[in-house]
Amino acid sequence: MPKLTLPKPAGGLQLNFCKTLACRNFGLSDEERYALQRTNPLRPALVCNECGAFPPLLNNQSVLDEKHRQETEQYGASASCSNPDCAHHNKPQAVHPEFYHAFGFSGKRQRYRCKNCSTTFVDPWSVVNPKLDIQQQILAYLFTGHTARDICRRTGINPKSFYDHLRNIAKRCQHRLSVTDSKILSKQHPLSLSSFLSPLQTTAENGVLWLSTSENQSGYVFSDTINYLDDDTDTATFEHDPYVANANMYA
Ligand SMILES: [Zn+2]
Ligand SMILES: [Zn+2]
Repeated sequence: MPKLTLPKPAGGLQLNFCKTLACRNFGLSDEERYALQRTNPLRPALVCNECGAFPPLLNNQSVLDEKHRQETEQYGASASCSNPDCAHHNKPQAVHPEFYHAFGFSGKRQRYRCKNCSTTFVDPWSVVNPKLDIQQQILAYLFTGHTARDICRRTGINPKSFYDHLRNIAKRCQHRLSVTDSKILSKQHPLSLSSFLSPLQTTAENGVLWLSTSENQSGYVFSDTINYLDDDTDTATFEHDPYVANANMYA
């Protein structure tokens, strides 16, 4: 078998190791514990010398990139330091007030300055929602089963405004949720979580999966995500290559 070189660690993470709990190599990434199998040259696989399992070969950087993408999805709607290189990026002011100074106002909205990198940003949620009435109407119609076309007709808005309102409502909910999530996460230790993966549209067979993760005792859902991005990156490939920098795949 060819000599094994593991994909480079990223941010101190090396996720290529045996995943069999009872195996002596579980969690260990020393290269001599594994062999490389290239039966399918496009999908090199790791073989555990101890138990013979085939843990998938992972691109560590891609796993980190996905973690950052998920964090942005979870916390990006809340006001936080906008500098992507700062340790306070995606750490919402509403959850971590100690990371920021109040720094005047922009119109009526509160402005903050990051204590770490001095970047300033405005909290879009610090004013009363000026679109509250129309958004409450839209939600009421949605919850009672009206179609998008019907809602546009009844409220006198065009489809683009309808979807803009929906995005805005979703962002507002995401902002509120990130505060609740963080409160639970900071209070409850240890936290016991379960994840469930299922097809998003059971009859479509389009490969889109729905992954939700919740807390075991309460059933509180921490994360709800799908393996589909509507903004394809230029560098996406059809095969996952654990050794190249951007191993995003087309679904
Ligand atoms: Zn093993
Ligand atoms: Zn910062």
